[in-house]
Amino acid sequence: SELLSVRNLVKRYETPRGTVHAVDDVSFEIPVGHSVAVVGESGCGKSTLALSVLQLVAPTSGQVNFDGTDLIGASRSALTRLRREIGVVFQDPASSLNPRMRVGDIVGEPLRVHEKLRGRSLHDRVTKLFNDVGLTADAMDRYPHQFSGGQRQRISIARALALEPKLIVLDEPTSALDVSVQAQVLNLLQDLKARKNLSYLYISHSLATVEYLADILIVMYLGRVIEKGPADDIFRDP
Ligand code: ADP
Ligand code: ADP
Repeated sequence: SELLSVRNLVKRYETPRGTVHAVDDVSFEIPVGHSVAVVGESGCGKSTLALSVLQLVAPTSGQVNFDGTDLIGASRSALTRLRREIGVVFQDPASSLNPRMRVGDIVGEPLRVHEKLRGRSLHDRVTKLFNDVGLTADAMDRYPHQFSGGQRQRISIARALALEPKLIVLDEPTSALDVSVQAQVLNLLQDLKARKNLSYLYISHSLATVEYLADILIVMYLGRVIEKGPADDIFRDP
């Protein structure tokens, strides 16, 4: 069954220099437990597409359905609930992790805020999240700058997993990392996907990065989908 369905999505930006067709009639589905990667060069509309799915920008037209609920026109409370069910990992963990917070508090924050966890039960859940991403619990008391880029991205992934989402939106999660570390983070994502039956919407400008992870590949150009299908088929095409 479909976890996410995007139908005829359009997002136009009106600018002093004219109308920008950032996303121009894009449709796709993500079945439960599958990953869809959206690739294309800078400016093709990938981020606008991801932000529209997260309802962080208002689409001009089209439909976005997540887990049976229409997100466009949904009430504020329905959107709040749905946002909790979609984890997000951004490109640069250095800027998305609060430098003044201990990483254990960063990972535990969604659990404190949304599930009101405290004390031992909070600590146990955070320990489990650290273990899930290959970090040990003694890392919790340190600050983001005390970790390497790859470890910081693991911390971002742990935070994204905290509320046990069904879908994670990943926006260039490895492009700020060294090549050797990229492979480790991709392996981790692949492993988590299988273990937790996660679905991914994975945004990248690099075909080589997503080839490994994507069940379905969507290639965008100037706001439009120019290729869509199983990664294997697209790579076999001449
Ligand atoms: P990508 O993520 O593939 O780099 P974006 O979604 O960021 O692409 O951008 C798609 C197009 O929309 C680009 O032409 C970009 O300049 C334009 N764009 C993005 N955000 C805005 C905005 N807030 N206002 C005006 N134009 C925008
Ligand atoms: P370095 O490798 O830079 O000499 P350390 O030997 O202290 O540093 O630790 C290796 C790396 O592991 C450091 O970047 C550190 O931030 C990180 N780290 C610290 N604690 C943990 C932990 N519990 N689990 C995973 N990595 C950790």
